[in-house]
Amino acid sequence: MHELGVVFYILDSVKKIAIENKAKGIRMVILEIGDVSGIIPYYLEDCWQWAIKKDEMTKDAELKIETIKAVSYCSDCKKEFDTIKNGKTCPVCKGGNTYLLTGNEVNIKEIEVF
Ligand SMILES: [Zn+2]
Repeated sequence: MHELGVVFYILDSVKKIAIENKAKGIRMVILEIGDVSGIIPYYLEDCWQWAIKKDEMTKDAELKIETIKAVSYCSDCKKEFDTIKNGKTCPVCKGGNTYLLTGNEVNIKEIEVF
């Protein structure tokens, strides 16, 4: 499962930050997840609850997820549009010369240690 790998990666990163800051553990992590990142927040939460218990530092860490809307850009008519609704096709000129601006993120936005 892709989500479990992401959770382990995040826990490793926040643990490193906590250790660098001489903290005892992690209280909360805020993640930014893009709408088309392929991460399903529900599964991520599930994996989180399972994975945090494996380590003393993370066992009570709360997870908060903020989603980032997927937005694409059309190189032909210079318009931004909703990726979820339109996919790779520009709704204005119907062209396919488009790329994703936001929505693919998996970022650690904030962490709280104690
Ligand atoms: Zn267009």
